[in-house]
Amino acid sequence: MPDLSLLTWTVILAALVIGLLAGHFGWGKRWPVPLGKLHPDYLTGLDYLVTEQPDRALDMFLKLMDASPDTVETHFALGSLYRRRGEVERAIRIHQNLLARETLAPEHREQALLALAQDYLRAGLLDRAERLFQQVSEVPRLRASALDSLRGVYERQHDWQQALETYRQLARIKAAPPRLVAAHYLCELATLAIERGEISAARDLLRQAREESKPFPRAALLRAQIAEREGQTELAVRLLHSALRESPKLLQDELPHLLNLVGAPRRDAVLEQLVADAQSRDFSELKRLVFAAIAANLATAAPFRAAIERVFIQDATLKALWEAASGQVERIAQEIGALLAHAEKYRCSECGFAGRNFYWHCPACQNWDSFESYAIVKLR
Ligand SMILES: [Zn+2]
Repeated sequence: MPDLSLLTWTVILAALVIGLLAGHFGWGKRWPVPLGKLHPDYLTGLDYLVTEQPDRALDMFLKLMDASPDTVETHFALGSLYRRRGEVERAIRIHQNLLARETLAPEHREQALLALAQDYLRAGLLDRAERLFQQVSEVPRLRASALDSLRGVYERQHDWQQALETYRQLARIKAAPPRLVAAHYLCELATLAIERGEISAARDLLRQAREESKPFPRAALLRAQIAEREGQTELAVRLLHSALRESPKLLQDELPHLLNLVGAPRRDAVLEQLVADAQSRDFSELKRLVFAAIAANLATAAPFRAAIERVFIQDATLKALWEAASGQVERIAQEIGALLAHAEKYRCSECGFAGRNFYWHCPACQNWDSFESYAIVKLR
């Protein structure tokens, strides 16, 4: 069980003191109240906190709050703190305790239902969360928040159709996230359609995805997959090439695939084009291409020679390695390749989650399109 930091407890205690004093004594009437007049149970609750018995402390505070109907805000503050700390069972107890009050005002009841739904979501109780969010989404004041959370529930369930429909509901009240998110839902649905062999449905979904977001390399990748499957190699090459131009972070996984599709005779021409594209952008793009080439055992391919030298001489960290290897590309490629074989290749730019696999949807923070290729190799 994680212990709360001293600062967090100070914040909770401040909220409780304010809430309890406001509830027991009323603002402005007998303020300030001598601490000696606080309910003895309150002091016992504090003692449980200090002696790190959070469950007994919580029992005591809930009992006190029952005695004072004016502490609703304190309930919400404490519940949300517990949820953020991952202590979801305590958050659930607090919000259920609130909902059990017969005298609770309707707006507070709605707020407590929303908070309880968020607790369930955090606890992974998706069915319960879904039902409550649906219920709360009928309240105009809380509709945007409830629908957005509901969208999150469907994402976790991989129910892309429902996620898309909820997105559309949010769009109608002008509370939708960027259209890129809808484009990803459509691509998820297209992927499932391709798996089922429903190619015409997949094409239609990808067309809709491109209407939501353009350019959209994920849709180009999936269309390339369809083209390849149907034997239209030239079209697949064109689509894959354009996806890589629009989203160079895909190079690490897709460069070998592209080269395989074009075949040996055209390989150098395609590589030259990729180098020219990267050079016309910025140095980090060229660096990314060079690392993808090394990982794919292409470091010694003629079109890369000059690019590799440029990257290694211009980058302060890599320059030392270049000098140590006396500029021998093969040696450097071998060393870097060995490091890359075990390195994390991707990292989420929102939460820092890193790994060897690429995700369109971050498994840690649930953001879309937040993965970047990550080829920073720690040199010994
Ligand atoms: Zn993330």
